[in-house]
Amino acid sequence: MAERALEIRSESHTYPIYIAAGLRHQTADILKGLGKSTFSAVLIVTDETVGPLYAEEVAASFADEQPLYICTLAAGEQSKSMETYYELMTFALNCHLDRNSVIVALGGGVVGDAAGFAAATYMRGIDYVQMPTTLLAHDSSVGGKTGINHPLGKNLIGAFHPPAAVIYDTETLYTLPEKEWRSGLAEVIKHGWIQDPELLKVIKDQWLDLSAVPVDVLNDTIRQSIQVKAEIVQLDEREAGIRAFLNFGHTLGHAIEAEAGYGTLTHGEAVAIGMDFAMKLSGKVLGSSLDSEAYNEEMIRLGYDLTIPASCEPETLLAHMKRDKKAAEQKVRFVLLQEAGVPLVRPVEDDTILDLLKEEMT
Ligand code: NAD
Ligand code: ZN
Repeated sequence: MAERALEIRSESHTYPIYIAAGLRHQTADILKGLGKSTFSAVLIVTDETVGPLYAEEVAASFADEQPLYICTLAAGEQSKSMETYYELMTFALNCHLDRNSVIVALGGGVVGDAAGFAAATYMRGIDYVQMPTTLLAHDSSVGGKTGINHPLGKNLIGAFHPPAAVIYDTETLYTLPEKEWRSGLAEVIKHGWIQDPELLKVIKDQWLDLSAVPVDVLNDTIRQSIQVKAEIVQLDEREAGIRAFLNFGHTLGHAIEAEAGYGTLTHGEAVAIGMDFAMKLSGKVLGSSLDSEAYNEEMIRLGYDLTIPASCEPETLLAHMKRDKKAAEQKVRFVLLQEAGVPLVRPVEDDTILDLLKEEMT
């Protein structure tokens, strides 16, 4: 039987996280071990890339005790849409899922968010299990946030609905393109900077070849990084105070993603630029003496490009940050670092942001 790597306490229940290579073959056993009576039906939700690689293997772990269905979404952010949500609900209804059924979200953050939101709202909420297949999804599968996008903005429609379990088969990550590794690793690095500088050392010393990192190193890194997110989320489940620290690098990161056009950079690539900016801002606003040159060197070694895309204008980026739903007051609130592992949130003057943006972009 697979060992629990971590336990996460949410408002409603405690759920286990399993992290190991090959867990997809044990999916059914792990579900049984959750202490629930047998599920009436299983619906695996996946996408067109992940499905052909792993869905049959997950399905094969189940005996014929209950009906099992596979729903395959298009790959990519487009599946976090109202249309796909409606199709997914129709699929579930046609399969006669009931309140004792379970949804298995097999894929990256897109599948996790979309299938999680379907589970949150199908018959007022049924169980679901996260089976993340991207490195980025170590972040999205923990914390209970599920949701879809609206043409007016990302993640605007959603619900807090923690999973019954997270089953992380780290073997599945090795089919990811390098760009996707980099996207996920940026969130690990973020967790390192806001709470666990030891993680930064692990990446520096042990992540020598980005997409060929040994699986035991990968397992440990994911566990440590989830631990950081879990600790923060557990203290602050519904996003106020310290959960905001998780936005480190995201204030400018989100603005860059939107202004450069979604899909130009991955989420993590934009966050990596945002972290660089937030560190420099920490120097200006707090007088922190972070070694941003060392950060730059390390990020370049890992293949990140920290230049703000030329298609972005400083004024437009600032305007975007001021529109961001997290900028409740007039001034943009940034997560800054006093030092590595010591974050704080500060409103920053527009001129300070603009000056630094202009400096960075010349
Ligand atoms: P994704 O799910 O789109 O996956 C990235 C790409 O990799 C896709 O094309 C996918 O088909 C492919 N892929 C996935 N697993 C693969 C594998 N093992 N082998 C080969 N290809 C594979 O994107 P993502 O980066 O995992 O997640 C991004 C989403 O997560 C965004 O929508 C974001 O809003 C969301 N997110 C949510 C939270 C949260 O707390 N709920 C947090 C962070 C991000
Ligand atoms: Zn993020």
